Amino acid sequence: MNKIKVMLVFGTRPETIKMAPLVKELRERPEFETIVCVTAQHRQMLDQVLSAFSIVPEHDLDIMKPGQTLSDITARVLKGLEGVINEEKPDMVLRTHDKYSPYPEEMNRQFVGCVTDLHFAPTELSRQNLLSEGKKAESIVVTGNTAIDALKTTVREDFPDPILDWAAGSRLIVITAHRRENLGEPMHRMFRAIRRVMEELPDVKAVYPVHLNPLVQQAAREELGGFDRVRLCEPMEVVEFHNLLARSYLILTDSGGIQEEAPSLGKPVIVLRDTTERPEGVAAGTLKLAGTDEETIYGMVKELLTDKAEYERMAHASNPYGDGLASKRIADAIVAYFSKKAQ
Ligand code: UDP
Repeated sequence: MNKIKVMLVFGTRPETIKMAPLVKELRERPEFETIVCVTAQHRQMLDQVLSAFSIVPEHDLDIMKPGQTLSDITARVLKGLEGVINEEKPDMVLRTHDKYSPYPEEMNRQFVGCVTDLHFAPTELSRQNLLSEGKKAESIVVTGNTAIDALKTTVREDFPDPILDWAAGSRLIVITAHRRENLGEPMHRMFRAIRRVMEELPDVKAVYPVHLNPLVQQAAREELGGFDRVRLCEPMEVVEFHNLLARSYLILTDSGGIQEEAPSLGKPVIVLRDTTERPEGVAAGTLKLAGTDEETIYGMVKELLTDKAEYERMAHASNPYGDGLASKRIADAIVAYFSKKAQ
């Protein structure tokens, strides 16, 4: 059989973290010729992850522009990809399937799903969702989530880090927030609630790598700035961030990817959103939805930091998102797909 030419396309930090283990797996296998094309709508955060996983893309559309809108991004990606696909003529194009995000990701997913030959579902529940959308059973493979593959390579018992030294002896909270629907007042409420609880509990410290969005930066500075037990820092390089999660006591976040990673580290997560698209984590008992109401967040965070039994109940390690072998299963499924086609 000729080499299978697979092109992987991604552009944001979470996509890159999910794709990196697969790029590595495909590059190591002789059956594949692997082409990486980055769209780069998040330049700085993307480059951090590419360098952490030593990925040098064959194509870089470099579409990021100041003040870009969703339509700008879509138009530039389509225009750029047209040339790359015509030049490379790949046998298969892979993109991440962040199955459950809201607008515009969910709309994009629905659209891409219609033209997809092979779906790699992270969990059995996602397989069921695809089936109920009418996708054919033979087009779906349950692989686990490749983000867990990434975590298995990044977390080290003895990871040296000045922030971890600073937090030694305290219970460490990790905070992240960036969702579009939380910008503005909801984010201020979230941060005020966190600060109120922390002011009451002197053995708690927090690290918050602040997203580059200026509105997020402003809210973080106004509500959490100048508090010596909260470290506001730049978005963190992924290896350092994963090790921070692994050594934390509690995670407060509106991020999707972190909700997938935390259960496999056995860390409780309070989700700063009204809904989650990660029901597996809620069922496993490691995620709790707090929404964005100040009193509700205050109550939930305080409960977890003062009620040891409740904390232990949530902190039991459970891993609904995979076993770290998702990339291997994806590569196997692609080989099987092309072998069948060649028959
Ligand atoms: N992450 C990181 N550095 C940070 C914050 C997050 O490397 O400072 C990682 C995190 O471990 C997860 C991914 O980025 O793998 C999540 O990205 P984000 O929260 O931006 O997006 P979402 O998952 O909500 O789409």
